[in-house]
Amino acid sequence: MDAQKAIKELQSRIDLIEKDYKNNVPEYTEALKMAVSALKKQVAKKPERTGRVVQGLQENDEGHMIYVDIQQDYYECPKCGSFLGYAGDCADENYWYRYCADCGQAIDWSGVCDETENSLHEGDRR
Ligand SMILES: [Zn+2]
Repeated sequence: MDAQKAIKELQSRIDLIEKDYKNNVPEYTEALKMAVSALKKQVAKKPERTGRVVQGLQENDEGHMIYVDIQQDYYECPKCGSFLGYAGDCADENYWYRYCADCGQAIDWSGVCDETENSLHEGDRR
């Protein structure tokens, strides 16, 4: 039995209890809900891509280092929003976190990093 099948089985039991027993076994129901929640984290989800503008040093035409706005894209956990990695690093499997360090959500990186990108540490000039 895989996690999705187990979730379905447990959820149908939760639905039944809440419908037919007016939830007179609240602790059992809560335990089942906790099990469903834990199992859902085992079903890998794609990371969410987001970004922000940060200040970074860059050499200008006269050779001086100046502060410029740099667009920095990164991935975060689809469940809790924790940082998972910079977009520029995601072509390298060594940077893939299989699980979120904060909430334990399994992460599916397949197909996420197909876009060819330059290192996002440098980012796009604005
Ligand atoms: Zn997370």
